[in-house]
Amino acid sequence: MSETKTAAFVERVACISCGGSKLLELSSGRFDEGALKHFIEEDPWGEHPAPFLRGQRWSYVACQDCGLAFHRYILAPEWNERRFSKWMSQEAIEAFERPLKTPASEFRKAADYTAHVLRIEQLTRALRGSGAPRVLDFGCGYGGFLSMCSMYGFDAYGVDRSSAKRDNNSFSRVYAGIEDVDGMAPFHAITLFEVLEHLDDPHGLMLRLRDLLSAGGILVLETPDCSGVHNLETRYDYSRIHPLEHINGFTPETLKRFAARLGFTPIIRPIGCVTSDLRQIVKTVAKRMLSTLMKPTTQLYFRKL
Ligand SMILES: [Zn+2]
Repeated sequence: MSETKTAAFVERVACISCGGSKLLELSSGRFDEGALKHFIEEDPWGEHPAPFLRGQRWSYVACQDCGLAFHRYILAPEWNERRFSKWMSQEAIEAFERPLKTPASEFRKAADYTAHVLRIEQLTRALRGSGAPRVLDFGCGYGGFLSMCSMYGFDAYGVDRSSAKRDNNSFSRVYAGIEDVDGMAPFHAITLFEVLEHLDDPHGLMLRLRDLLSAGGILVLETPDCSGVHNLETRYDYSRIHPLEHINGFTPETLKRFAARLGFTPIIRPIGCVTSDLRQIVKTVAKRMLSTLMKPTTQLYFRKL
């Protein structure tokens, strides 16, 4: 690939959830103009993508049928490969993550993982009898959640398309693609943490994952809440709908509709209290009792019908 080439994009002409063709443009622009230009310039990169994006357009649209919003233009497969291997180098990822990683955030992440483990153990009891929960973490990254599952005796597997992440994984049963885990199904639970927002074809992938889940199995979906984000004007917008990274912008409502179309029904997330702080427990229980007043979320549990 010559250094002077322009990145190629492909157009998503139909809704990535319901297949509807009535797409309303919410905002659009060029990669080399306005706020987006500066956000991209300021980010850490390996090979800088700006020269390849010159003159290219982005367009953020919403489906008129189901309401899901997403980026119409996404990088063509060979350019997406380049994004993974060159633009987002291991050093760039580390530079990006370093300021976000604090002792408090690491502690919270591990406690969150433990809470998921406890909930999945409880929700899958009727499915597995005395057997260990079989869990697939799709988009498992460095395997943090899998390691936690493993410590609790789960039969855990992971898939991640990034070879850098697979090679630096703390967990051994991690595969490159969904086809590699076909023979290991069915799973009692499948988790996707911060994955849906990145997928070219989330509906198509979820159809395949659904087949790997046992009847009555649990699906855990966590994706950024893009409620109220319709444009790329602020750093917050950029963190939610970065047109190279976060190509799908779910809200609590569109996420539920997306899952319903695939045959999943939302369930109430059991309390997972991982703390030695009594006040924290009281707060969690009180919040649950007031749950009807709580803000809807894009961190949801579902059961396969
Ligand atoms: Zn739609």
